Amino acid sequence: MNRARRAAASKIGGLKPTLQLSSDVLVIGSGAAGMYAALAAARAGSRVLLVDRSLIGRGGATVMAQMTVAVALGEEVPDHWEHHLADTLKAGRGLCEEPLARLLCEQAPACIRELDAWGVGWARNNGHVSQVQAPGHDRPRCVYVDFVNTGPAVSKTLRAQLQRTSEVQRTGDLLVTELALRDGVCVGAHAVHVASGRIVPIAAKATIIATGGLTRVYARNSASLNMGGDGYALALAAGAELIDMEFVQFFPIGHLAPRLVGMDPIMWDPFRYKLGGRLLNAARREFLREDGRYTAARDVATYAILAEVAAGRGSPHGGVWLSFEHCSEAELRAAFGPIIDRLAANGIDLTRAPIEVAPIAHYHMGGIRVDADMRTAVPHLFAAGEAVGAANGANRLSGNAITEALVFGRRAGERAAALAASSALPTVKAAAQAAAAKRDINPAAEIVRLQAVMNEHAGPLRTRAGLERALEHIAQLAEPCAALGTPRGAFDAEWLDLHDLSSMRLVAECITRAALARAESRGAHQRADFPEASERWQRHQRIRLGERGLSVES
Ligand SMILES: Cc1cc2nc3c(=O)[nH]c(=O)nc-3n(C[C@H](O)[C@H](O)[C@H](O)COP(=O)(O)OP(=O)(O)OC[C@H]3O[C@@H](n4cnc5c(N)ncnc54)[C@H](O)[C@@H]3O)c2cc1C
Repeated sequence: MNRARRAAASKIGGLKPTLQLSSDVLVIGSGAAGMYAALAAARAGSRVLLVDRSLIGRGGATVMAQMTVAVALGEEVPDHWEHHLADTLKAGRGLCEEPLARLLCEQAPACIRELDAWGVGWARNNGHVSQVQAPGHDRPRCVYVDFVNTGPAVSKTLRAQLQRTSEVQRTGDLLVTELALRDGVCVGAHAVHVASGRIVPIAAKATIIATGGLTRVYARNSASLNMGGDGYALALAAGAELIDMEFVQFFPIGHLAPRLVGMDPIMWDPFRYKLGGRLLNAARREFLREDGRYTAARDVATYAILAEVAAGRGSPHGGVWLSFEHCSEAELRAAFGPIIDRLAANGIDLTRAPIEVAPIAHYHMGGIRVDADMRTAVPHLFAAGEAVGAANGANRLSGNAITEALVFGRRAGERAAALAASSALPTVKAAAQAAAAKRDINPAAEIVRLQAVMNEHAGPLRTRAGLERALEHIAQLAEPCAALGTPRGAFDAEWLDLHDLSSMRLVAECITRAALARAESRGAHQRADFPEASERWQRHQRIRLGERGLSVES
């Protein structure tokens, strides 16, 4: 083998195995937030390293998102970002961190227009960008590319833009396991190269966590495998604070039955946007007053469904019915064409029978505490996207999540680059490849158990007794998770499961402790034992990880 070929063969994921990586700005996670952060940092003059535990731009929620992106463009109906902000604050039930919510709404038009210039292809009507009405918005405000393909289009556009940006080095298959600190300052990270099992140290002047959310912690979820909350665990271990971890958004109409293969469990959202649809209880009566439209906010619809089920008026599998029987075959085909055939392959004919739906964990309003420059409490550490907490308060509006990822990603990239410009490049020592730990548990089975416990006891409806049971279960996992060690070699699936279990255990504890402390019901956090909202509780809760474990403060 000649020298060039040997060098090429020794490369892994585009990186030499023994390299100590370094960059001005390190971005962890390549969803919309991470990719936009990388582009913005490069534009501001930084060398950027964008890493992801999966393939670049294909691992998290962004590429799965279906339709709506909220932004006050006002192309079809007059609008202003202040109206968008007013709706966001109202939906957040008094708990939005206003500077973040304001940034989201104010900067959204610029980001959406920039994506337009990069060729995303927002749907247009007579030359104007089309906007649909989504629940909780006071006017049509959500742009889209296609009714089910907006996320893939956003992701593809950002990936294409990255390919044109030589200052950004991208590498997948790098799972960040720990942030590197010197004297309390973040100086980069340690990652595991999944395909070889090697530990890779990464030195960076500034680091951005853009690792998305945590909904994989629940048995019923719309998440990918990479959404077990790694970023929150990384931030906590480095000394950053988390905020409002109790607010997990359940999407009310997640698919429940009949069995649906190869389709997204939240696919009924675009159906409701286009065709209305009727939510019916066991007696086939509408129980939400929506006047044939899709208007109920997510928290309101979730609890209305749970109330029907609790009252014995649910559908056979424990949800409610969603009916499009009032639509003709022609209407359905005109709206969703080939998707109707895919439904038929699953034995579903919407003109003849309703389907069953029930709430499903979908998005996390809580997360890493940042200021309006996306700075965490740890110097030189930033966060962006769904990983950030409190912009959406106790309940998020439809379409605000992709917007948040874009706006916060861009802001984090700019601010990290500015800091990097005045900082020296640190060094990060290679962490010892710890001896493979003895593994006494089956981590994959434990993940399934933890998800079931969280769904049952820390899901949309909570009680003190249930939350305490969840905490007991979580406590039993502490010891096995502490023995994580490092992979035994390439693609060590058992180690990966143990790693995921360890992040999920920690974030599950955060959710549960915060939910136990919040003695009221508000937005996505409902306590059967404290059914009312309390003025006393119109405040945030912050979580830190110390010598003696987690502490929750409000
Ligand atoms: C099915 C679905 C449909 C949705 N539809 C909509 C919609 O229509 N409108 C809307 O506004 N929102 C929607 N959302 C929510 C929205 O898509 C997300 O909130 C948003 O895309 C999050 O972007 P992000 O960049 O913060 O994170 P993500 O896109 O989730 O990206 C995070 C990345 O971090 C990587 N990562 C995680 N941990 C590590 C680690 N330890 N090391 C390295 N990399 C890591 C992951 O592999 C992933 O690629 C939807 C979500 C889902 C799941």
